[in-house]
Amino acid sequence: MAKKGKSIQAIRGMNDILPEQTPVWQWLEGTVRELLQGYGYREIRMPVLEKTELFKRSIGEVTDIVEKEMYTFEDRNGDSLTLRPEGTAGCVRAGIEHGLLYNQIQRLWYLGPMFRHERPQKGRYRQFHQIGVEAFGMPGPDIDAELILLSARLWRALGLEGVRLELNSLGSPEARAAYRQRLVDYLQAHREQLDEDSLRRLHSNPLRILDSKNPEMQALIEAAPQLAEHLDAASQEHFEQLRARLDMAGIDYRINPRLVRGLDYYSRTVFEWVTDRLGAQGTVCAGGRYDGLVEYLGGRPTPAVGFALGIERLIALLEAQGATPPAPAPHAYLVLVGDQAQPAGQVLAERLRDALPGLRLLVNCGGGSFKGQFKRADRSGAALALILGEDELAAGLLAIKPLRGEGEQCHVTEQEALDRLRSLLDAEQQNLLGAR
Ligand code: ATP
Ligand code: MG
Repeated sequence: MAKKGKSIQAIRGMNDILPEQTPVWQWLEGTVRELLQGYGYREIRMPVLEKTELFKRSIGEVTDIVEKEMYTFEDRNGDSLTLRPEGTAGCVRAGIEHGLLYNQIQRLWYLGPMFRHERPQKGRYRQFHQIGVEAFGMPGPDIDAELILLSARLWRALGLEGVRLELNSLGSPEARAAYRQRLVDYLQAHREQLDEDSLRRLHSNPLRILDSKNPEMQALIEAAPQLAEHLDAASQEHFEQLRARLDMAGIDYRINPRLVRGLDYYSRTVFEWVTDRLGAQGTVCAGGRYDGLVEYLGGRPTPAVGFALGIERLIALLEAQGATPPAPAPHAYLVLVGDQAQPAGQVLAERLRDALPGLRLLVNCGGGSFKGQFKRADRSGAALALILGEDELAAGLLAIKPLRGEGEQCHVTEQEALDRLRSLLDAEQQNLLGAR
């Protein structure tokens, strides 16, 4: 046996999601699942580990993620592997590998943990969770609008307030290349005002400089030439149509000319849903069009657009609003006193579960006095206590006692207990229907 020792802690920035917290996660995940199904999106599940090369190629070498945030290691064969920092790369890789993309329309989504070695703080973790939604094979603004509309519907379904949409267009890769040159010229001319990060990116990834969070850089960025003024005609048309669709649907947005994704295969639409209520970690959801990526990763040219939302940030926002669902309490807790009653009661519980699908019944395990068990019953939040002792067992009866509100303890047959439980379940069902 291993030696006893100091207790071992979780890795910094990697959180346990405790039983108190899982109801809100489940509620959010369930809401997302139902909503995406309603729009015809199908779930895909990819491995958490991929070849490092995949992320270097898709995200790009000169990005925060690849330069300093990836969990990369050699496995026992000496292959370089990386814990996925995001889902798009793996989704595209899987799509190409399984022939899902070429000449097809695909609406896909996934949910799961992502890993980035960042400085942990509120809203920023080393293992965090994203829901990703990706649509392939559709070049027009219709699908861009669909993604934005469905995300807006998700906020409504969750009762989320205070998120607003920011929108921009990056144009075609050619137009962006021309713009990039103008931007580099401008930044070169003000070289003395650039910080260290920006100097490094000046030639490798200058568009990303526009995204800098350094306050001392803001004036310079504000005065920089704007991408919007250099859009090609086709991209301009695409952007106008997207905006018209959002206007028609009554979706508010703000054009943010500094919203960029500085990678070559991104094109046209980029958007973010942001909030002021989470401090510096204000982006809840980010997405855009990446028409070049499938080809870049070895597939046939395929238009694509998608977004990823950060579940932790979404939940933090919901909690800040006090909008979290209660965990459902058990309908009943079965108190079992005596050597005979314990096994008999466990079998009785199985009969009740057979008869009442959806029943939430906690059976006392681990022994305990009548008083101790009753305390547990009360703490469980159950509506009813069912009691089986040696006397009840001999008489073929059960004792029943309401734990919330009025009502005396009395003896009932198993059938009568079942009827009581059934009416509890029915009442709950009625309440649910009424709430819809
Ligand atoms: P940021 O600017 O906040 O670092 P990002 O541009 O790196 O965000 P994306 O790669 O676009 O983020 O990921 C999409 C979403 O995933 C973000 O909008 C955010 O909600 C969430 N997210 C990203 N990184 C983290 C993290 N380390 N911890 C928690 N959530 C995160
Ligand atoms: Mg980041």
